[in-house]
Amino acid sequence: MDLLAPMWDGFAAILAPYLWLLVPLLLLAAVLRFPMLGRGPNSTRRDSWRGFKYASRAAVLQRAGGLCEAPLFLAWGRCGDPAAEVDHVVPWSRGGPTVVSNGQALCRRHNRSKGALVPPWWYVLGLERRRRGYFPEGAPVEVLAVMDDGERAARERWAATRR
Ligand SMILES: [Zn+2]
Repeated sequence: MDLLAPMWDGFAAILAPYLWLLVPLLLLAAVLRFPMLGRGPNSTRRDSWRGFKYASRAAVLQRAGGLCEAPLFLAWGRCGDPAAEVDHVVPWSRGGPTVVSNGQALCRRHNRSKGALVPPWWYVLGLERRRRGYFPEGAPVEVLAVMDDGERAARERWAATRR
């Protein structure tokens, strides 16, 4: 053990002048990973509907013009390849409900590379900024991982037709 002690002392001496950098770097990492507040989900309970189907799938694809909504160039540009999947912005596994306001159209490549983490605030803001440029007039660009009464009622109506 005593043999290692001088080595550690040497390390510490080399690192000490840079230690102050550690605090802002850790702070920056925390800020960049922070989720968008106030957009849900309100619980981590999983939606019983796992995937976007039928009307909700069609609605998400339609407002995106059938093209991928994923970011390019650090959230500035838009992918724009033909969309193949409708995916959750806040992942289903993290309590993100399968509702249009939590949906995004993705191409095959971006759907595969998507992580299972709640996206950070800058991802959500970037998506909403890009959407203002291509969403049809009147379509809300806001990401909202919350099931509202309208969505719930639409589901109940749909379920009633299947009985
Ligand atoms: Zn894409």
